[in-house]
Amino acid sequence: MTADAAAAFEPTRAAGLARLADFVPRAGRAYAAERNADHGPGDRTNVSTLSPWVRHRLVTEREIVAAVLERHPLSAASTFVQEVYWRTYWKGWLERRPSVWTRYAASVAPTLDALSGAERATYDDAVAGRVGLDGFDHWARELVKTGYLHNHARMWFASIWIFTLRLPWQLGADFFLRHLLDGDPASNTLSWRWVAGLQTVGKTYLATADNIARYTDGRFRPRGLATVAHAVDDDAAVPPAGPAPVPEPLPRATRVALLLHEDDLHAESLPALPPEVTVVGVAAPTAGEPRSPLAATAAVPAHFTAAALADGLARAAAYCRSSGTAAPAEHLPDLHPDTVIAWLRGLGAEALLTPHAPVGPTRDRLDVLAAALRAEGIPLHRRLRGWDARAWPHAHRGFFPFKARIPALLREEQMLD
Ligand SMILES: Cc1cc2nc3c(=O)[nH]c(=O)nc-3n(C[C@H](O)[C@H](O)[C@H](O)COP(=O)(O)OP(=O)(O)OC[C@H]3O[C@@H](n4cnc5c(N)ncnc54)[C@H](O)[C@@H]3O)c2cc1C
Repeated sequence: MTADAAAAFEPTRAAGLARLADFVPRAGRAYAAERNADHGPGDRTNVSTLSPWVRHRLVTEREIVAAVLERHPLSAASTFVQEVYWRTYWKGWLERRPSVWTRYAASVAPTLDALSGAERATYDDAVAGRVGLDGFDHWARELVKTGYLHNHARMWFASIWIFTLRLPWQLGADFFLRHLLDGDPASNTLSWRWVAGLQTVGKTYLATADNIARYTDGRFRPRGLATVAHAVDDDAAVPPAGPAPVPEPLPRATRVALLLHEDDLHAESLPALPPEVTVVGVAAPTAGEPRSPLAATAAVPAHFTAAALADGLARAAAYCRSSGTAAPAEHLPDLHPDTVIAWLRGLGAEALLTPHAPVGPTRDRLDVLAAALRAEGIPLHRRLRGWDARAWPHAHRGFFPFKARIPALLREEQMLD
């Protein structure tokens, strides 16, 4: 990890909370007016840059919105609150259409293999930041170096990738997923689909030189960008929404182990453990599980995730000890069933509790683990947070009907009267 990236994003909950406290005064009308400007990596004060912490729930969406609404009325902070709910919406949308993720994930390696020689050269230049397009090359390098890009830069980059360089959107999404500190199966895949015209069918996003120059303080004005953006062809229709997950009943067992994973590292605020349960162990894998079928997660996010897991594990163990339960914390190397079952056997645990993992690589591994545990007679209980349980039932159509529910959702969260 570079010194710059390490300084900007420290992978602890304490650092995330400090970033939140620093940002809250700017989350009202100032954010709404200024959020679209990308002033470059040296000045990110017009956005929160909280996404790496939210990605791992080192800081939760609920905490962020609560802190902002303590300081600002919803009328002033509605743009910021809506952005946080975009994340929740994308996660709920994909949760209810898991085949969109499965199909994307399965397509990445064959799509790379199918590139012609010329396309492969363009792809190699694009990810190395040497296609010769002003802005684009800078963002490719900024992403690899820092693990973060401004939202507008992500939109411009994806649009140029798809419509100017004519590269497959799946390979751009994979490049982002491997390099972003906040690389997220839902927000990333569905945002790339949105730019390509697959998410809101027929509606694409076209980056223009004027828009880029305006919102980058004139730093970039690329020449030769595509002037039309025809929606990408895709023969698969968007599947209908399946049911939203509902909270599972608590385990009846008395010896329960808690397994943390990179999608949720704030065990302290998980829906309450039953008082009669003795939590006998807390474990987290040493490093994040690979996000891409193509290549390992890049060094910057891999380092962040590994340290975030360590932070989550230490806090969870301290929390269990403070509530009187024995908590021998352990780093597991991975979520492989053999690894987890050996750990549970060592503890004499009768059930395994874990935060609900939304659709993505961690969920895929937990599904494999659940089947193996079933064969061993050990139930896996996935704890769904109230924030997700309340919002995801409304993430079945477009964002605009979902957005209309936000005040009601905030009342259910008891953040609005
Ligand atoms: C092509 C593309 C790929 C993207 N990939 C990801 C990704 O992998 N992971 C990811 O978290 N976001 C992704 N986004 C969404 C968005 O760009 C980032 O969430 C945002 O830039 C993070 O910076 P911030 O924390 O400073 O955001 P702020 O503007 O401060 O917003 C606050 C929070 O709201 C949420 N948020 C803001 N904008 C969006 C959005 N458009 N969609 C979903 N959530 C949003 C984030 O959790 C963010 O931390 C992508 C957007 C595009 C166009």
